[in-house]
Amino acid sequence: MQGLQMVDLKRQYQNIKTEVDAAIQSVIDNTAFINGPEVKHFATELANYLGVKHVIPCANGTDALQIALMALGLKPGDEVITPSFTYIATVEVVALLRLKPVFVDVDADTFTMNIDSVRNAITDKTKAIIPVHLYGQSVNMEELLALANEKNIPVIEDNAQAIGGTYTFKDGTQKKTGSMGIIGCTSFFPSKNLGCYGDGGAMFTNDDALAEQLSMIANHGQKVRYYHEMVGCNSRLDSIQAAVLRIKLRKLDEYCDARRAAADYYDNAFANNANIITPHRAAYSTHVFHQYTLQVKVDRDKVQELLAEKGIPSMIYYPVSSHKQEMLKEFGGAEYHLPVTDFLNTCVISLPIHTELTSEELRYISEHVHAIVNQLSK
Ligand SMILES: *Cc1c(COP(=O)(O)O)cnc(C)c1O
Repeated sequence: MQGLQMVDLKRQYQNIKTEVDAAIQSVIDNTAFINGPEVKHFATELANYLGVKHVIPCANGTDALQIALMALGLKPGDEVITPSFTYIATVEVVALLRLKPVFVDVDADTFTMNIDSVRNAITDKTKAIIPVHLYGQSVNMEELLALANEKNIPVIEDNAQAIGGTYTFKDGTQKKTGSMGIIGCTSFFPSKNLGCYGDGGAMFTNDDALAEQLSMIANHGQKVRYYHEMVGCNSRLDSIQAAVLRIKLRKLDEYCDARRAAADYYDNAFANNANIITPHRAAYSTHVFHQYTLQVKVDRDKVQELLAEKGIPSMIYYPVSSHKQEMLKEFGGAEYHLPVTDFLNTCVISLPIHTELTSEELRYISEHVHAIVNQLSK
């Protein structure tokens, strides 16, 4: 089978080409490339979708996390708790701001932050917690928020992989992922569930004062042009990206459903293979399957190699966790005991998942994964 991709953005574009082309052309015709009406409309529409008061667009998901931390006014050396098992951006911004990342372990079934691990990591220097809704499923926010509220620690959600997800609290209340912490952050990188055709990101909050801070920081620390109240940065979403995002936001639920349907197919296909663990679905969260990630009990790198021979791409998210990265060595990687994180580095493998996978492709991929894992388990 030819042309299998982890994410097939070309095929997705073919299906929305007329709308997207017209929207992009209209931005060019109007030449309001920066901060044009498309950006404002998109921010309002996303705020409505998420059920939050404010959406502040910015240049990318990494900036969103950085600006969120800046808005909390933390001081060098303040501690920020994050999982080590995440994309590096979550932790990099902490180090960049001279704050101290404190790494916690994840749960083996959901791949997300273990709340006991967070409880044990809290000190009187802890000034923020960044849960990461990894692969498309929420952290156990009910327990995390209870803990954070008790200790009065702000929570910034890294929602880059889970936009569109819904969390259900024990009393039945539902909230969108990214809308539960004091600030939520996301990325519109092309391959994300809500991706644009370049770079983009956003922050969400219900707090008016924080919203003002976030907008100011993203705009050179100014509210009034040329009057700079604080050191900020330059982080903007451009109008062409906003125009694309407005179209894709309307399809986001449908896109999440398509990803879930592909995940259902894989779940069924691997249900009876004792050497494959399929991703667990937590009762409190929908799963939007930014990634479909298996744990295999055979030589994982060999699985990847043999899949490639069949034209099946796969990815390892992530082969090395943050606490072991050279970049972060001053934060004492060797001192950490994160057994689940270390174990997952060796056995996770993500399969192609996107909005346009056909049943023939799903069948082809799962049959080969099965056969290869069985062959390697002998
Ligand atoms: C993609 C991603 C980011 C960073 O987003 P960019 O837009 O690439 O800067 C941050 N955190 C997580 C978990 C991500 O997956």
